[in-house]
Amino acid sequence: MPTISNVTCPVCGSLCDDIEVLVENNKIVKVRNACGLGESKFLNYNGHRLRKPLIRKNGKLVETSNEEAIRKSAEILADAVYPILYGWSNTSCEAIRVGLELSEEVGGVIDNTSTVCHGPSVLSIQDVGYSTCTLGQIRHRADLVIYWASNPWNAHPRHIERYTAFTQGRFQESIWYRYLRHLSAYRARQRLLRALKLSSPREAHVTAEVEHGLPPELSRKERKMIVVDVRRTRSADIADYFLQVEPNKDYEVLEALRAIIRDEEIDVDQVAGVPVETLEELADIMMGCKFGVLFFGVGLTMSTGKLRNIDIAISFVRDLNRYTKFLIMPMRGHFNVTGANVVYSWTTGYPYAVDLSRGYPRYNPGETSVVDILTRGDSDASLIIASDPVAHFPKAAVENLVKNPLIVIDPEPTATSLMADVVFPSAFVGIEAEGTAYRMDHVPLPLKKVVEPTGGCLSDVQLLQRILAEVRKIRKEKTEMA
Ligand code: SF4
Repeated sequence: MPTISNVTCPVCGSLCDDIEVLVENNKIVKVRNACGLGESKFLNYNGHRLRKPLIRKNGKLVETSNEEAIRKSAEILADAVYPILYGWSNTSCEAIRVGLELSEEVGGVIDNTSTVCHGPSVLSIQDVGYSTCTLGQIRHRADLVIYWASNPWNAHPRHIERYTAFTQGRFQESIWYRYLRHLSAYRARQRLLRALKLSSPREAHVTAEVEHGLPPELSRKERKMIVVDVRRTRSADIADYFLQVEPNKDYEVLEALRAIIRDEEIDVDQVAGVPVETLEELADIMMGCKFGVLFFGVGLTMSTGKLRNIDIAISFVRDLNRYTKFLIMPMRGHFNVTGANVVYSWTTGYPYAVDLSRGYPRYNPGETSVVDILTRGDSDASLIIASDPVAHFPKAAVENLVKNPLIVIDPEPTATSLMADVVFPSAFVGIEAEGTAYRMDHVPLPLKKVVEPTGGCLSDVQLLQRILAEVRKIRKEKTEMA
């Protein structure tokens, strides 16, 4: 049975590239090294998918040929005055590059899903810059890892094991065994409490202590992990320390930490529900580490303050660099959302929300971002690739999206594909089609083709190239007739 090694997992921004896939008769039968999310995608990608191109006729989606679907899509885009082309985070850089060419050809707006996740991070990073590094450096050197408003245990399941606290670095030990010791001590304590509760419920209640101060693990020289969030998550359970802050008050906590490390007075007893003494102890630990890193998630980018939360987090990390080495990195979600920002930037100069309707790129998020265009009702056609805006965008935006001609390219049926006028089933990138994707730390990695596409589905690149060629043909015909 052929085993394909060093396969890159096309699910989350961690882009684990050590996956082994066993293939038999063009079917993936076993997957090694992936987490539950990755394994499930490799084993089940083929179960629930689109198999034939569809076109809407008399109000119903009916099967059609690729040729007819491509001609219809090209007509829609060539006739549109202000089309939008949206998605792009779950496809390859090669497809994104053709998408940008197509947007320029039709004079449309091209935007990716950062517009609804880490767009504020991108804006902040452009405003104030940031100190960052690769995940490899973090794996080998970081002795303090902070996850702020992010839950990697569930959203990026191998991030902790592969790049941070649970990995064995060259200069830093894994804290996995420490975590196991904690786990067994915790279970023993729970058993004891249950036994006490059975024998004497009142005593058991008295025995439950409230913990004060920071745990002794944080004063050790070895690697430590802290989680900051508005609620206790599974990631918080495995951390050495969990700091719970009140919702929408991350900015205040970060500003207080900045004030503390600059030796400024804080006139209140607590900030966002956290005692100032606790923040002082935490600031000491951060200043005292040798190599710290702050990972932040959409809990910071999409709560009150948005890009200002990121400004303050970056500024805090910059302040910490007066005392030690400290870095910051966004936890990017979709496997190639970073690639979408990178390819847009090298092609147009801007990372998302790029308006090409005037023949040159314009960028003004809030005006040229797809959610705003749709909410205003400005666009007159859409091409959605590898994304499901009908399930995720605000109602007013969705109403305007489905009012106009809609083309969808996706391997899977989605709420958006159900509302579309033309639907293309595409090959799964990273399983049935090769390409390139960028990991969250901007390291490009190859996506492998491990099986042949089901039913001869074309790849995103092939479909986009054929639509682009057809658009050019239609425009040429129109020019010749004029
Ligand atoms: Fe795939 Fe992400 Fe799991 Fe790695 S952590 S195997 S990239 S889903």
